[in-house]
Amino acid sequence: MSTLAAFSALAMVGVAAAVKWYMTRRWRLFCISPNELVLPKMCPMCLSTNVTEKIYEKSSERQTADYVIARRIEWWNIQVPHCSACKKKLDTDHAIGFITGAASIGAAGLLLPPTEFSLLLLCYILFGVPAYVAATTWRKGIVFGPSSSHQISARIRHPEYFQSLVAATHSVPQKKRVIAL
Ligand SMILES: [Zn+2]
Repeated sequence: MSTLAAFSALAMVGVAAAVKWYMTRRWRLFCISPNELVLPKMCPMCLSTNVTEKIYEKSSERQTADYVIARRIEWWNIQVPHCSACKKKLDTDHAIGFITGAASIGAAGLLLPPTEFSLLLLCYILFGVPAYVAATTWRKGIVFGPSSSHQISARIRHPEYFQSLVAATHSVPQKKRVIAL
C-alpha cells in the first residue's frame, strides 16, 4: 500500500466526522448524564407515537485507558424507540450505506491501486466510511455524539422531539441535570 493511499485512507475518518457534523449542524444539542436519559415514546424521525421498534444507537467512542499493546475504547449503546415504517427506512439506508461504501472502496482501489498484498489493505475499508455515514445519517431524527462516563450528547432533528425528550427527562426526579440548547 502506498503512503499516499495510507494517508488518504486515514483522512477518510476525518471526512466522515465532517460529513456527520455538516448534516446535523443545525440540529438541537442535548446533553445529559447517561443515568438520567429517558427517551420519549415517540419516533424521532416522523414524530409518531406508535413506536413498536427499538433501534440501537451508539455514542461516539472514547478512549478510557492506554495499555502497552492496546487501547481501551468505550461507548454507550442506547435503545431508541422508532415506528416500524421509519425502522424500515433506516434498514434501507444501512443497505445503501454498505453498497455506496463498497463502491467507494472499489473506486479508491482503482485510483490508488495497492502496491502489495498485506493486512494494510484493510485500511481501504476506511474509504467506504464517509459514504456509509452519509447514507445512514441523512434521515435520522437523533444522532448521538461525544460522550464520557458521566455525559452523553445527542443532536435532535425535530424541535417537537426535543421538547418531548426534555419533558420525559423532567418526568423522572433527578438530582443533577445538564441540558444545553
Ligand atoms: Zn417514524
